[in-house]
Amino acid sequence: MAPPTCLDCSAAFTVTEDDWKFLRDFDVPEPKRCPQCRLMRRMNERNARHLYWRACDATGKRILSQYHADQPFPVYSPAAWWGDTWDGLDHGRALDVDKPFFPQFKALKSVVPHQARFVIETTMENSDYTNCAGFMKNCYLCFEVDYNEDCQYSNRVYHCKNMVDCSNCYDSEICCQAIDCTACHSVFFSQDCQNCSESWFLRNCIGCRECIGCINQRQKRFMIFNEQLTEAEYKKRKAVLALHTQQRIDACRTRSEEFFRTQPQRNVQAERNQNSTGDHLYDSKDAHECFDCKDLEDCRYCAKVAMGVKSSMDYSSWGDHAERLYMCSACGNNAFDLKFCTTCTTNNSNLEYCDGCTGCKDCFGCVGLKKKQHCILNKQYTKEDYAKTRTALIAAMTERGEWGEYFPKDVCPYGYNESIAMEYFPLTKEQALKLGYSWHDEKDDVPDVKKVIPASQLPPSIADIPDDVLNWAVKSEASRRPFRITRQELQFYRAHDLPLPRLHPEERHEARILQRPPRRLWSRPCASCKTEMQTTFAPERTERVLCEKCYLKEVY
Ligand SMILES: [Zn+2]
Ligand SMILES: [Zn+2]
Repeated sequence: MAPPTCLDCSAAFTVTEDDWKFLRDFDVPEPKRCPQCRLMRRMNERNARHLYWRACDATGKRILSQYHADQPFPVYSPAAWWGDTWDGLDHGRALDVDKPFFPQFKALKSVVPHQARFVIETTMENSDYTNCAGFMKNCYLCFEVDYNEDCQYSNRVYHCKNMVDCSNCYDSEICCQAIDCTACHSVFFSQDCQNCSESWFLRNCIGCRECIGCINQRQKRFMIFNEQLTEAEYKKRKAVLALHTQQRIDACRTRSEEFFRTQPQRNVQAERNQNSTGDHLYDSKDAHECFDCKDLEDCRYCAKVAMGVKSSMDYSSWGDHAERLYMCSACGNNAFDLKFCTTCTTNNSNLEYCDGCTGCKDCFGCVGLKKKQHCILNKQYTKEDYAKTRTALIAAMTERGEWGEYFPKDVCPYGYNESIAMEYFPLTKEQALKLGYSWHDEKDDVPDVKKVIPASQLPPSIADIPDDVLNWAVKSEASRRPFRITRQELQFYRAHDLPLPRLHPEERHEARILQRPPRRLWSRPCASCKTEMQTTFAPERTERVLCEKCYLKEVY
């Protein structure tokens, strides 16, 4: 039999025997899209970083919302949404089994209140401009983050303090432009490092201190471009590099990247895994094609899930004790047996096609329910009627080709470019619209400031930046988008003698994301032992890419 062709990208893809084990177990038909297009669709369900001012439809208060005002449904502040002044069952409606299901679901979704931002309000202190966040103190423009203090313009940082412009970092402190770094301190412009400190432009280093422009080093000190120096020589050369102006920093970045390309590359970033494939994958067993994940067991095609995820397939964003999730996005925390769901939080089980439900059991096609059981389209059924209706509905949906498919794209409230899909799989507006995604054209508000200055006219060194800069807007060097400087970030740049950024925070974020490897694996032979291996380096790339065994032989 010919392999299926993806309905979105038309590529042939394989549904393997291992995939079938899951599909049979979940009692669902074969997917109609390839794993990558399935992930794109699920990632469209999460808008982490685009926030808009609007009125709370419950209290009238001005709030920040992840939903743009043009969405049809009411939007409540998190406190109002979690309050008991409303009940999702008030919007319940009769199901017509013989009519297409998704339009009925969409009609329900368009009237049920949605939560403005996904934050655990009681754990947030002076951190209003954040989303998908909990346990934050004095943080600004941070997204998909937990347990941080004094962090700014960062995403996916956890248990961190005093970080600016960082992505995917854990347990780190005082870093700027660090990507995928763990337990680092005073590390700048570095990627894939652990336990490093007081360093600039490191790549794949562990336990290094006072190093600049180094790759693949272990427990080193006073090294520049992998050359071991004496302390005196290191200090002399570091002074000559003078990493205090944008020009010098850019020059050092270019030189480091050119140097890194000549050095051996690790096929993927992965640690402490058994029988697993993927990238930025840690502490996992039997995980197949999983990206940015930790603590998985028996999982396939997952992304951005962690903290104990078992027997799940096509699951992205969150985790934290989740078992048997299939085709779900942004669901988690004690989740069991969820299929085709989005944004269902905490203590849910046996849900299908649910959206924004919490503490629910045995529900189908419900939106915004709290602690309910045996509901379909937000209508209460008896246990027996629920079972009967569900069976009839699945049979009718199977006949119409609906069962087994994720929510159609037009049910999603976010433009493709508002969602985190854009980070993993950037598309142009034309490409997104052609695939059936929506797009949200955004215009920056004109900042209410006394002065707007092009970035090129900023004094090159932080020493020459006056306090008055807090009253200005800076126009991005790349796009001329205006942005402001906060007091907290000015203090950070002054403390570490770093220049002010020249790009808009969104452009800085995009640049960091582009620096990460693609969320895709290719087969290619190890440059040393010639064993076929899985890697994020596309076959045409000219770097010397090594399998884990050969890589470790070279670095130690
Ligand atoms: Zn596809
Ligand atoms: Zn090898």
